[in-house]
Order: sequence, then C-alpha cells, then structure tokens
Amino acid sequence: MAFVSLINADRLWTRLMALAEIGATPAGGVNRQALSDDEIAAWRRVIGWAQEAGLTAATDEAGNLFLTLAGRDRAAPPLLVGSHLDSQPTGGKFDGAAGVMAALEAVVWFIEGGYMPTRDVIVVAWMNEEGSRFAPGMMGSEAFSGARGIEAIRAVRDTSGISVGEALDRLLASLPDLSRKPLGFTAAAYLELHIEQGPLLETAECVIGVVTGIQGKKTFQVVVKGDEGHAGTLPQQARRDAVAAFARMAAALHAEIGAIDAEIKFTVGRVTIEPNAPSVVPSRVTFSIDLRHPDNLVLDAAGAGIEALCHRYAPPCAVAITPLVDAPSNDFDSRLRERIARAAHDQGQPSMAILSAAGHDARHLAKVCPAAMIFIPCRDGASHVEHEWADPGHVAAGASVLAQVLRDLALADQPFAAGA
Ligand SMILES: [Zn+2]
Repeated sequence: MAFVSLINADRLWTRLMALAEIGATPAGGVNRQALSDDEIAAWRRVIGWAQEAGLTAATDEAGNLFLTLAGRDRAAPPLLVGSHLDSQPTGGKFDGAAGVMAALEAVVWFIEGGYMPTRDVIVVAWMNEEGSRFAPGMMGSEAFSGARGIEAIRAVRDTSGISVGEALDRLLASLPDLSRKPLGFTAAAYLELHIEQGPLLETAECVIGVVTGIQGKKTFQVVVKGDEGHAGTLPQQARRDAVAAFARMAAALHAEIGAIDAEIKFTVGRVTIEPNAPSVVPSRVTFSIDLRHPDNLVLDAAGAGIEALCHRYAPPCAVAITPLVDAPSNDFDSRLRERIARAAHDQGQPSMAILSAAGHDARHLAKVCPAAMIFIPCRDGASHVEHEWADPGHVAAGASVLAQVLRDLALADQPFAAGA
C-alpha cells in the first residue's frame, strides 16, 4: 500500500531544521535550555510561522506558549496538541521540537484544507520539559495540570542563581504583545508526537508507535550515617563505617531489586561520601535511587523493598530514606490510541503499541483530559545527544497521522461521542 501523507512534508522538515539553527551546537546538536535567550528566539520564530497561518499567540503564568486556531464555539474546551521547545545542553534537533512543529504543520494543513474546527485548536509548547537548567523538569505541564504550584516553580534556581520566576518575568517582558491565558484551563484532549528516544520502533522497522502509557518512576535520597574515625587506630569491630554500610546496601539492592523481573530499571546514579578523605573512616554517605517499572503494583512493592533492604543492611549505621518522586505508570486514553492506530493503518504506515520508558508532559495532561502520544523512530534509539536524528520520512509520517487524528477530533461536535 502506498504511503499517504496529508501534510506538507517539505515545509515541516525545512521549518524543523530552521528551528534547530537556534541554539545550534558545533557538533550538530541543540543547546536551547528553558527560558534562555535561545528559547525566546525559538518562540519568536514559531510565533511568526503561526501568525502567518492566522493563529494567535498567547502565554500563561507558567510560561507555556499557546498558538490558537479559533473554532466555531470559542467557549468549548479546546484541543491541545504540542510538546516542548527547550533542549538538554547537548541535546538534539528532534526531542520536543519535532512534536511542536508537527502540531503546527497539522494545524496549518487543516487551515489550508478549508476546514473549520468546531472548537479552538491550540498548539502548545510546555515550559521547561527537560529540567536541565531548572530541575526537575516538566514545570509548564505540572503547573497547567495543578501537579505543582506556580510559587514553588518560580522559586527554583539554576546554577548561576537565577530563579524560574526571574527568567519567566524576563521572557514575558521580551514578548509584551502576547496575550495571557489563565493557568490550567479545561481541554477536550491532548495529543503529543515525540521521537521514541529508544530503539524499539527502529528494531521492529515500524514507523508509528501508539504509546500505551509512561512507565512509573520513584526516586529516593538515602543518607547513611556512621561515625568518623582514624583509619589507623580505630578497631575494625568498633567502627560505624558509612561506606561499608553503603556497599552492603548497594549490593543487596542491585541483587534483589534490580533482579525483580526483566522490566525493572534500578539505578544508583550519584554517591557522595563524607568526609571523603583516604585515611578517615567515612561518617556519611548520601546516594540516589532511580526506580522504574511499567506495573504500578511491582513498582510499589519494589519501593517498599528498597526501604526494607536499606534498614536491614545499614546497621550499625543509621539510615534515612526520603522519597522524592512518586509518579505511577499511566494508561493513555484508549479511544485516542485506537484513533492513532486507525490513522496509521489508513495511511499505510506500520504501527505498534509501545510503552514510553521516558517521562513526557503528556503524563501530566493525562490527569486532566484524555491524552495520547505518537512515537516515531530515532536513529539507534539515541536521544539527549547531539547526533540525535530522525528520518525526514518518519517525521512526515508521524505528523500526517497526527493531522488525521486532530482533524477528526476538531471536526466533531463531541470528539468522543459514540461513532464520532
Ligand atoms: Zn522531550
């Protein structure tokens, strides 16, 4: 079956590459961190393309960018479609940007087709998805969905001491013509296209990933407390050595939690030792745990297991475990997933169901409206790297599937009515 592309693939690719010039790195990647001058420049470029097509640009208190195509009923909850424009410091051209540009292309195609949406259709770029400059990320979608308060977000500082609040005020001051939307309005649905950031689609030679959900994640900070002492004089049996306790705990955690099943992801990624001197018995170890699993029951059990193992292997040291992130796995809306699979089939593109191993803004949108994601392959599964690459044909195919789903939702009086 011949592939059918609804959208203008050349325009989409040309614009995506033009966007990648903003914050371009010598190695071919992108450094366009949240609320930076480069992100403001990217906003200007995208706003220019949107206004050319008749969309109006607005923002909210959290620095999310909204590009609105007015529908027949301005009061009806709008359709949201987008991703993010910020990148990692050594990021690529596609993570986030592909989703925003595919969304814009889908809407421009819709306008050029002479369609009139029953409700507003809004292309969105969420503020600080990456969390590289201001951690943790997904601030814009968290503020929009109510998962995190705007005051807590504004207080976060980057390594140079600049707060999100200061950077946000600067962004808004540099774009004084933007109108303001309230923070967290009701939406009819949310769609997001993204590169997979993993190898599954490429390996399966599949172009469209119908994302079933995002795997759950828990993070912890663990502090092991012992006693400092002289490495030459303190008898071995009298020691409360925090590194020895950490070593027992880490070995047990890897052996028991890291081996729960084939889907578990267990990582101790950061360890700090105090006083970190060669001839002093260490008194304190602080380490991080990142735990992920698609099944919430397994994730919860593993989380409880971590606490139990830490307490079992810490003595004679003391241990304190602080949970940081507790994000359960979510299921994306089955009606939207079905529409994505059907659109891929209609357009002659092979599709498969796929679980997202990485987090996305859609996780937070799924709490407040029906939401779904479309994945496209990226070369070697590589992402958050400067050589991140997606095939132009795959970008076009994903955008075209997105366009069909969006059009069908936008033309329906009730997007999820039976038979719609
Ligand atoms: Zn992303």
